[in-house]
Amino acid sequence: MTTRTDQQTVLGDILAGIERRNPAQPEFLQAVHEVLETLGPVLAARPEFADSGLVERLCEPERQIVFRVPWQDDRGRVRVNRGFRVEFNSALGPYKGGLRFHASVDLGVVKFLGFEQIFKNALTGLGIGGGKGGSDFDPHGRSDAEVMRFCQSFMTELYRHIGEHTDVPAGDIGVGGREIGYLFGQYRRITNRWEAGVLTGKGAGWGGSLIRPEATGYGNVLFAAAMLRERGEDLEGQSAVVSGSGNVAIHTIEKLWALGANPVTCSDSSGYVVDEKGVDLELLRQIKEVERGRVDAYAARRGASARFVPGGSVWDVPADVALPSATQNELDENAAATLIRNGVKAVSEGANMPTTPAAVQAFRGAGVAFGPGKAANAGGVAVSALEMAQNHARTAWPARRVEDELTRIMNDIHATCHETAARYGAPGDYVTGANIAGFERVADAMLAQGLI
Ligand code: GLU
Repeated sequence: MTTRTDQQTVLGDILAGIERRNPAQPEFLQAVHEVLETLGPVLAARPEFADSGLVERLCEPERQIVFRVPWQDDRGRVRVNRGFRVEFNSALGPYKGGLRFHASVDLGVVKFLGFEQIFKNALTGLGIGGGKGGSDFDPHGRSDAEVMRFCQSFMTELYRHIGEHTDVPAGDIGVGGREIGYLFGQYRRITNRWEAGVLTGKGAGWGGSLIRPEATGYGNVLFAAAMLRERGEDLEGQSAVVSGSGNVAIHTIEKLWALGANPVTCSDSSGYVVDEKGVDLELLRQIKEVERGRVDAYAARRGASARFVPGGSVWDVPADVALPSATQNELDENAAATLIRNGVKAVSEGANMPTTPAAVQAFRGAGVAFGPGKAANAGGVAVSALEMAQNHARTAWPARRVEDELTRIMNDIHATCHETAARYGAPGDYVTGANIAGFERVADAMLAQGLI
């Protein structure tokens, strides 16, 4: 009979091996560490997982593709970026996960995102494996023509690795509807196939699903509402601090308004905006989606209720609920201490791994409801899976149907995480619940499929 303590020692040894083999990949090691430190109880209860090397297998991607992306800028200068696709785990379905175009992207970042995606996708219950990709290309300040040439070059290599039954990319930071359009067009040209299900996040007129753009933000607010409900509270009337100003943040703000909460902030890498009257969604969308501008323009045009704080931390703004929706490690232990001091009740991650391990610890210690990204932001990839289902059936569902499904899925993920945490002796701990529930689904499938 192995105990939890034995299993934590075994996991510690596995982690040390992974650290040795993956130097200079701090984000990947952080993501692995955060999962492994919660798996002791499930390995003690299910020794067959430990005996079959499942943790070691899960932490090694099935395939990693790194490629050159040459393209020409508007001045005719040749540029070279690096492209990535990490096909992490396909035990539950085709690899599924977004593409991130951002200067910070390297193999370690893509591996951290791909690793998280395995568990997130398992939690949706929709039969999708985990993968992620991207490039260190930064679309900011690039013309449409440059972005198109980059996307065409990127797809000229990527196309041979993907397919509706193999690997289905989508968007992430820096990859939205415009980029998916250019990528899809090039895939179609090269393959001479109308293979709608090869990419998700497509335009509604050519194979995209309604509510896909909204799904990550909407889903995260639904998850936060479910956590509050569990504690006998309601999201209605609560103030909310939101970071970021991209697709996730905008639709988070939209859903907060719809459920009667009051979103008071948004941010970008230059600083944050706090708006006493609540964020004016129309103005924010105009600046971000139409003009592709920065949030200081919002404060300049909004009038007296809003002010822009250059370089400041959005987490200094007191609120009942915090929804980090920008990027990894954006909320550290100092920010957590400030939020706790200001009486935050719930924190729900719209971005992937935005909260540092020390900050997560602080929230747990203070009894703040904490929704980890792999559960809380799973709405985006869940609706991507619904987009694939519509593509396979050559049909398009009305928005209402997609949104009802999204609501059902988010409530189901919340219930699964809550129930699993309680079953494994960590009541109210959504981090443990999400990690173990996701792990069990993938591990059971891998076990059944032999030594893969
Ligand atoms: N990039 C999103 C995520 O982090 C969505 C992925 C997808 O739709 O495949 O989950």
